[in-house]
Amino acid sequence: MKCPACGHPEMVSKTQDETLSYGGQSLTLHAMRGEFCPVCDEGVWDSESYRRYTEAQAALLRAVKGDVSGEIRRIRKNLKLTQAQLAEAFGVGKVAFSRYERGETRPPAPVVKLLKLLERHPDLLKEMNTV
Ligand SMILES: [Zn+2]
Repeated sequence: MKCPACGHPEMVSKTQDETLSYGGQSLTLHAMRGEFCPVCDEGVWDSESYRRYTEAQAALLRAVKGDVSGEIRRIRKNLKLTQAQLAEAFGVGKVAFSRYERGETRPPAPVVKLLKLLERHPDLLKEMNTV
């Protein structure tokens, strides 16, 4: 088969491990089969390996998302705030934190960073309500 990326006429069948990384976590799939381009390294998985790849990708995404939701809840409880109080302090919609904690919406990175900052400096919360 022809390489879809560079057009090289001969792709080589190979079996190899493939490591997926996302949000600081990684997952290795063994014995992944596909055709690989010897020129540009482009690879095309066979259908079984492709299915395993997309499943692993989804699982990794869920794992990372779950971690963020759990962390938001944990920090909020440490700050002794309700979801509505936190939303007001952050100036976001009332249901935003409920969605983050249930993993429905991935929280924007600045929200997560600000929360981690507040965890270390809870006194800043007072100031947040006045800006
Ligand atoms: Zn190629």
